[in-house]
Amino acid sequence: MALNVIMMGPPGAGKGTQAERFARDRGLLKISTGDILREAIKRETPLGMKAKAIIDAGRLVDDATMIGIVRERLLQPDAMNGFVLDGFPRTVAQAQALDDIIAERNNGPLIIVDVMVPEPELVKRLSTRRICSVCGANADPFDGAAAQNRCTRCGGELVQRTDDSEGVVRKRLAVYEEATRPLVDYYRGRPTFRVVDGAQPPERVAEELSAMVDAAARVQAPGRMPGRVGNRVEPQL
Ligand code: AMP
Repeated sequence: MALNVIMMGPPGAGKGTQAERFARDRGLLKISTGDILREAIKRETPLGMKAKAIIDAGRLVDDATMIGIVRERLLQPDAMNGFVLDGFPRTVAQAQALDDIIAERNNGPLIIVDVMVPEPELVKRLSTRRICSVCGANADPFDGAAAQNRCTRCGGELVQRTDDSEGVVRKRLAVYEEATRPLVDYYRGRPTFRVVDGAQPPERVAEELSAMVDAAARVQAPGRMPGRVGNRVEPQL
């Protein structure tokens, strides 16, 4: 059965870094919707043109667009071994669409990891984090690249994300509270829902997260099956 993992949590929780590390360790496909949008902006595609102003304002790209992107990617053959999703879903409508995609794939349940970090720590992290100006990778706290100011992947210069400026960060945290935090309630009742303390050192978060995903994968979790009532999924005994 495939490992189908989503990393949830507010901006700055470290979910991108953890998603990257976990996907690499397990040989899974990592899909970051933020990276897809930033790449589209760089290439000035129609998606990029549409997304730029929205991202720079700290708002969310519309559900239909995001669902279309993720749906197409998750139904490709190389995603069938499992995936790690970073940055999606961000709304209840996106989560519902993802449940439909998981049912359609019919290859393993969704494992949900919520990375929790207190807000003052998030603000601190976002104001200091850097990404590579060339390849877009996050400066990885595992390898100390931030200290060297160069990307360990391609040697590119590390810069601040345009949406990590103070005003936009505040807006993104507010959007998270309003649109994305309700997802925790959407998923909380599931046997494959886990919470990890993201305020710990990144190596410790990675260890705990890895063990949690394995434990969750051992739980029988139905997709859209007779035991399902509304948004709730009843554990199969
Ligand atoms: P991230 O890199 O995940 O922080 O995403 C950066 C920005 O891309 C977000 O602040 C949103 O504007 C946009 N974005 C990324 N993923 C989504 C999504 N699933 N739904 C809507 N907007 C998204």
